[in-house]
Amino acid sequence: AKSMGRNKIVIFHQSMEESIKRKEKLKVELRQAINQKDLFLVYQPQFDTRTNSFRGCEALVRWDHRQEHIIFPLEFIPIAEESGSIIDLGEYVLNEACEQAMQWRDQFKQDFYVTINLSAKQIAHKSLIPYIDKMIKRTGIPVELIELEVTESMLMMDMDRAVEVLSILKAKGIKISLDDFGTGYSSLSYLKKLPLDKLKIDKSFVNDIPGDKDSEAIAKTIISMANQLGLEVVAEGIENARQVKFFTEHGCYLFQGHYFSPPCRAKELIKQFDNIIPF
Ligand code: C2E
Ligand code: CA
Ligand code: CA
Ligand code: CA
Repeated sequence: AKSMGRNKIVIFHQSMEESIKRKEKLKVELRQAINQKDLFLVYQPQFDTRTNSFRGCEALVRWDHRQEHIIFPLEFIPIAEESGSIIDLGEYVLNEACEQAMQWRDQFKQDFYVTINLSAKQIAHKSLIPYIDKMIKRTGIPVELIELEVTESMLMMDMDRAVEVLSILKAKGIKISLDDFGTGYSSLSYLKKLPLDKLKIDKSFVNDIPGDKDSEAIAKTIISMANQLGLEVVAEGIENARQVKFFTEHGCYLFQGHYFSPPCRAKELIKQFDNIIPF
C-alpha cells in the first residue's frame, strides 16, 4: 500500500508537469493557428416558439489542430487570454461571424442575427470599438444583426470600464446579451448598470427542469424579472421537449440547445433549417 501511495504521488507530479507542458505547447501553436486560419466557427441557432422559426445563431469557435483533433474553446480560450492572443482570436471571430451573417442576409431575405462571445480581455482592450467600427463599415452589416455576449464574472474585473464600453456599443445599435445568467458572482445591481437587451439562463438550471423545484423557482424568477425589465430571455442547453414546454408556459420563448440543433458549420445549418421551416 505504501509503494502504491508513492506511485500515486509520482503519477500526480508527472501529470501536473504534462499539463503545464501541454499548455505551453498549445500557447505557441495557437498563435500559429490564428495566423494560418486553423480556427473555424460553428453556429447554434436560437429558436423562437412565438413564431416557430429560427431567429439567429450563436457563433462558437473551434480549433482544427492539424496533429490532433478538434480542440474546444474551454481548453484554448483560457490559454488565449493568458497569452494575449485572445485579441487576434476575438477579431477573427467577430469578422468571420459578421461575414456569415451577411451571407445569411442575402440567402434568407429576412433578419437573422449572430451572437458573438466576448472575453474580458477584449472589453478591456482599446482596439475593440475601433475594430468593430471598421468591421461594420467593411462588411456593411446592419448593426442590429450583431449581438455581443458577456458574462457577469468577466465584467467584475472592471465594471465601470465594461459599462462604458458596452454603452458605446449599444448606442451604435449593437445588442448586448448577458450570458450564463445566474452563475458566478451574480449581482442584481449589474442588471441596472449594464445596457442589456437579453439574458441567457444558464444551462445548469435548465438541466434539472422540469423536476427540480429549486431550479424551477430560479428559472421562473429570472424570466419574470427579465420580462419586467423589458429584456429578452433565452434558455440555453435545451435538450428535450419538456424543457421547452416548461419555459414557454412561464414566459420564455427563445431557446438554444441540442434539442433544436447542435452547433454546426454554416453549410450544415441550412439543412437543419430546411427540415423545420421554409425560409
Ligand atoms: P457558452 O457561451 O455558454 O456556449 C454554450 C456552450 O454550450 C457551447 O459549448 C455549446 O456547444 C454548448 N451547448 C449547446 N447546446 C447544448 C445542449 O443542449 N447541452 C449541452 N450540455 N451543451 C450545449 P462550446 O462550444 O464548447 O463553448 C464553450 C464556451 O467557450 C462557451 O460557453 C463560451 O463561453 C466559450 N466560447 C466559445 N466560442 C467563443 C469565442 O469565439 N470567444 C470567446 N471569448 N469565448 C468563446
Ligand atoms: Ca455564449
Ligand atoms: Ca452560456
Ligand atoms: Ca458557459
